[in-house]
Formats: sequence, C-alpha cells, structure tokens
Amino acid sequence: MLPTQPSPEDLGVVFAGRNTVTSLRGEPGAPWRVSEICQLWDTPLSGAVPVGQWQGQALWAFSIAEEAVDPGEQIAGNLYGLLGRVEEPLFHAHGRAYQLLHWLDTHRHCGRCGAQTQVAEGGRALLCSQCALQVYPRVSPCVIVLVSKGEKLLLAAAVGFQKRFYSTLAGFMEPGETCEEAVRREVKEEVGIEVGNVRYFGSQPWPFPSQVMLGFFAEWESGELELCPDEIEDADWFDASALPPTPPIASISGQLIRRFIETL
Ligand SMILES: [Zn+2]
Repeated sequence: MLPTQPSPEDLGVVFAGRNTVTSLRGEPGAPWRVSEICQLWDTPLSGAVPVGQWQGQALWAFSIAEEAVDPGEQIAGNLYGLLGRVEEPLFHAHGRAYQLLHWLDTHRHCGRCGAQTQVAEGGRALLCSQCALQVYPRVSPCVIVLVSKGEKLLLAAAVGFQKRFYSTLAGFMEPGETCEEAVRREVKEEVGIEVGNVRYFGSQPWPFPSQVMLGFFAEWESGELELCPDEIEDADWFDASALPPTPPIASISGQLIRRFIETL
C-alpha cells in the first residue's frame, strides 16, 4: 500500500490535459523526480495520484495546466506518440497514470445524487460525500479481431482516418456479452459476414482513454463483405505479401497481423 502523499525522492509523471510532459533534457517519457515537479510547477503534494511502482520506486501522477508547459524546457506530447518509442512497461505506467487522472477529472460528482466525490482508499476509489456511493476506475473492454479466410486476412480502414492505415476490426463489448459473442457481433455489424472458430490471442491496456483490448483470431464462415458506412470506409481481404499500411507492431493489431503471417 502506498503512502497517501509522495516524498520528494519519489517519481512522477506529469500530464497537461491529454498530453504527457517530459523534460527536453531527458529521455522521452522518463519520469520526473517529485521534488522537480513541485519546484517547476508549484504543485501541492496533496494533488498527486498514486500510480504504483516504477523500477522499485513509488510513482505518482500529476496534472498541470496546459499553459504551464514551458516549450523551451519541456515537450508535451500525445500519449500515443510514446507507443513503441519507449519500453512497454514505461508506456503502461504513463497509460495507467493518464487513466487515473482522466477518471478523477470525469467523476468529480456522484452519478447518483450529484454531490461532490472525495478520494478514498488511498486514491483507488472515489466516495460520494452525501450518499456514500463508491466508484472505482472504469476500464472498458474492447474486442479486436483478425478475421482470416484461408491465407487472406481481413483489414479495414476506419471512417475518419483518411485510409492512413488498415487495421483489424475492433469494438466495445456490450453488457451481458461473452467476448466471443462480441467478436461475432462486431464483425457482422461492421462488415456483414459471419465468423467462427474464435480464439483468444492476448490483451493490451489501451489508455485512449481507458480501454483494454482483448485480441482474437476468427475465421470467415459465410457472407460477402458489406461495409457499415458509419464505421468502415474500406475493407478487403489481403494477401500477406501485399499488405496496405498497417498499425505499428507496438499495438495489439500489429501483433495479431504479425502472428497470423508467422503461422502461414
Ligand atoms: Zn451520491
């Protein structure tokens, strides 16, 4: 259990809005000393949010105003920019910090009675000051699936990305669904086909803002591609030897594609 307040020697990650703030003098994404954070931004220690441990030291999350970033000294960048650029545990530490700050920011009032919430359980829960409703950080599970048809794989360009890359299909799970049902439903909704033989691959925390991606393989069973125009701009069956631009290997989509190609 972490103490309720950091000590100056502890480590901290700093967010300005949605952007993670790093010193221009250090490595990308490197945590700060808490003493540096307090000195640079005059941040009260009581505002720190416990994230966990990083390389044997306590790690805390801090939120600063966007205008408090000094562009001559620090760089504020989108969290996605760290994906694949820093080691995975460091990316996950930033992701966890961001999710906690985002959760606190969006749960200042009780969802039941509207009264103010306060931090409880050493920062791991929020408690309503009136009706005692307790809420915990919310993680939203999403399924992400590589659908194959023989040696071809299905990749889709989502609406709004100008076909910059083609990815595996993904979508939020709905209440009461199994993961396998969510896979079959999402594929049917997005591209109109039936799939079977749904197999689990692995998972990845996805802090944009607070998902966990559950990766699957599935096989085409029946139907022709019929794209949902609200979600999918383009989709097709591709040969491994002629792939369009795909997501980075640091993402679970990139890993699903790589694994599929390895097993051909
Ligand atoms: Zn309440």
